[in-house]
This record gives sequence, structure tokens and C-alpha cells, in this order.
Amino acid sequence: MGPARNVVLLGATGSIGESTLRVIRKHQDRLKLIGISAHQQGEKLCQIANEFGVKNVHLGHEQDIREDLPAETNFSTGSDALNELAALEEADLVVVAVVGAAGLAPTLAALEAGKDVVLANKESLVVGGQLVMETARRTGAKILPADSEHNGVFQCLHGQPEKSLDSIILTASGGPFRDFSLEQLSSVTPEQALKHPNWSMGPKITVDSASMANKGLELIEAHWLFGLPAERLKVVIHPPSLVHAIVQFKDGCTLAQMSPPSMTFALQNALLFPDRMEGVEQGLDFRQPLELSFSPPSPDKYPCLKLAQDCLAKGGTAPLVFNAANEVAVAAFLRNQIGFTEISDIIENTLNTADFPHASSLENLLTFDQEIRLQASAFLQKLA
Ligand code: NDP
Ligand code: MG
Repeated sequence: MGPARNVVLLGATGSIGESTLRVIRKHQDRLKLIGISAHQQGEKLCQIANEFGVKNVHLGHEQDIREDLPAETNFSTGSDALNELAALEEADLVVVAVVGAAGLAPTLAALEAGKDVVLANKESLVVGGQLVMETARRTGAKILPADSEHNGVFQCLHGQPEKSLDSIILTASGGPFRDFSLEQLSSVTPEQALKHPNWSMGPKITVDSASMANKGLELIEAHWLFGLPAERLKVVIHPPSLVHAIVQFKDGCTLAQMSPPSMTFALQNALLFPDRMEGVEQGLDFRQPLELSFSPPSPDKYPCLKLAQDCLAKGGTAPLVFNAANEVAVAAFLRNQIGFTEISDIIENTLNTADFPHASSLENLLTFDQEIRLQASAFLQKLA
């Protein structure tokens, strides 16, 4: 057993942040928390800093929480300081559990500094996949996937020759509206969308799961992580969320990864990789009857998935446009400004009117991302 790894956790106050803290609490001899960030939940951030004795603490909003922190804390605010925290010299592992495209810059900062990244934030790969993967390749930093499906694929591929891979199938629960008619879907509320049948997650990804935009983002994420083209990346509906990923090899054999629907399994796998130690929660109990059904998703019911697949096939900045429009639309839905089915309308309209300039640097990607958000917001104003 080597020395404890120094961990920086960006987005410590969120749902993935909480699951990561559960793993760190259980394995304090292996993982030492040395840096944390939040966007605006100062009080919760302070509690975490005090519980784990965290030295480096960052809050996005300008509010001053220093007085509640231990005297020797190195406290910072502002986006430049977040990137500095991601590149902290003493860090071995950086967990990116920030939500949305805001995860791109710190992910790049960590990789640029040669830090291994436990990546929960899928939007960073959707917006800047090429740049992220090139940066990791150049510096030799590892990306350890923490999104459950991608972590499942990562587990199945470990030790397999690269050329043996045929295709990847990501499972989707189908969300809370799996059995709703198209008409029923038009009047669902944010409260209904936020009740996911299997997973407990932050609000944005919970809405994305209901619309299946999440699975679309995950196909793009898988493309970058595992290097397969759109036609070899598939989605299947699997309501119980016990099988997270299925990998098919050229010889016709299939491997699948299973665990209960809780993020501690994937996070622990990524944080302790390649070691396997006792988990935070019990694994599956095969003495109980388990339902393992799989069916193809209906494209009519999940237009966001279809739009994301088109963007993956188109490449370039199309996935960035999809993501930015989706972030704007989901925020508006959560504010009760638009209906659920209008999320895909906003994405589709934004895709139809956007030009797709070549953008490869972080600065160009972020500038274009802002432009698309303005376009999506303008369309939103017309609808609302
Ligand atoms: P949450 O909304 O629960 O948490 C988001 C975290 O990011 C919070 O700590 C929040 O701070 C911080 N944050 C929010 N906005 C910003 C910003 N602009 N800049 C910096 N930090 C910010 O999200 P989740 O934990 O659910 O998801 C995090 C990421 O992980 C997402 O990309 C999601 O897609 C991915 N993921 C999540 C899964 C899950 O089970 N939840 C599963 C697989 C992937 P504050 O609390 O102060 O607002
Ligand atoms: Mg997932």
C-alpha cells in the first residue's frame, strides 16, 4: 500500500461531492482531502473544511466565509483561483464534480499540471473533448472516468487489447417519464422531473436524465474517452439501473459491469484505481430476484437523445452547441419558465440557427459557448 493520495475535490458541496466525501471518509488512510470548492454554498463548504481539516478552500461567489474556517486556511474566490486550486502543487488527484461547462477550465488546468483527474463532469468532454484528451496525452495525466456508465466501461476494458473492442452500449433507466405519453410529457413539472426512480443526483443531471439529454451527453463523453465513432456507441433502456455499461468485443463476447445505483461504487473505483477495497455500501445481493430487462429507446419520446446523436456524428463544435443550449433550457425549465418538451425545442432551434466555427483553444471554446447561450436565451424569451 502506497502513501495516501492528496485529493482536491471541485464541487464538494454537490451530489457527487457528497458521494466522494463518503469514499474519502471510509479510506482516510489512502485519500487525504487537501482542497475543496463550491460555487455558493459557503456554509456547507465550511463544514466540510472543518470536518476534513482541508487546507485550501475556494468559493465561487464573493461572499466572505473566512471567519468560520480554521485560521491557517488558504481561502480563495474567483475563477482564476479555481483553476489554481485544480493545479495545486501538492495534489495527486483532482476530482471534477462541478456541474456544466464550468468544469472545462479546471479540468484542463489540472491536466495541464499533470494531475490525474477523476472526471464526473461530462460537460467538459462534450464542450472541449479534443482539447481535454490532447492535454492529457501531452502531459501524461490520467483521466479516470467517474460517470457510472463510463466507469463501468473503463472496468470492462481494463486489461483488454485496444483492438479487440467492437462497440459500447450505455444503459439508461429511461427516467421518471419512461411510461408517459408524448401528451403527458408536455405538462410535467420540475418537481416531477426531479424525482428520479433510481438515482439521487443534482437538479441539472436529474432533468437531463428525464429528457435523456444525459445519455446523449454520455455518448459524446464515451466517444472521447474510448475513441469510438458514433455508430459503435449505443444506448439501451434498462429500468433497474443495475447494469451500467456493456462492452462487446470483436469475438462476439460481451462484458458488463453491475453494481447498485449509487455513485460511491464508480467514484471509489476511480479514486483507488487500480486497487479494490471494501466499499462504502453493500454490492448486489444475488440471492434476491433481479430484473435484467433491456429495450431500445424510442426516438420520438427522447428528441434530446436524437439531437445529441446527430451532434456527435456532425462533430466539431456541434456538441458544444447542444450542451450550451441544453444548459440554458434546463435552467429555464427549473425556473418554471418553459415546459419540459420545450427543452428539446430550444436545443433544436439553437442548432438550426448556429454557425459552427472551428474552435480549439479554451478561450475560443468559451467565447463560442457564451455566444450560443445568448442565442438560446433569445429563443427562450420568444417562447416564455
Ligand atoms: P450538483 O448540482 O449536485 O453539484 C454541483 C457542484 O458544483 C456544487 O458543489 C456546486 O456548488 C458546484 N458548482 C455549480 N456551479 C458551478 C460553477 N459555475 N463553477 C464552479 N462550481 C460550480 O451536481 P452533481 O453533483 O449532480 O453533478 C456534478 C457533475 O457530475 C455534473 O457534470 C454531472 O453531469 C456529473 N454526474 C453526476 C452524477 C450524479 O449522480 N449526481 C452521475 C454522473 C455524472 P454549490 O453547491 O455551491 O452550488
Ligand atoms: Mg451516467
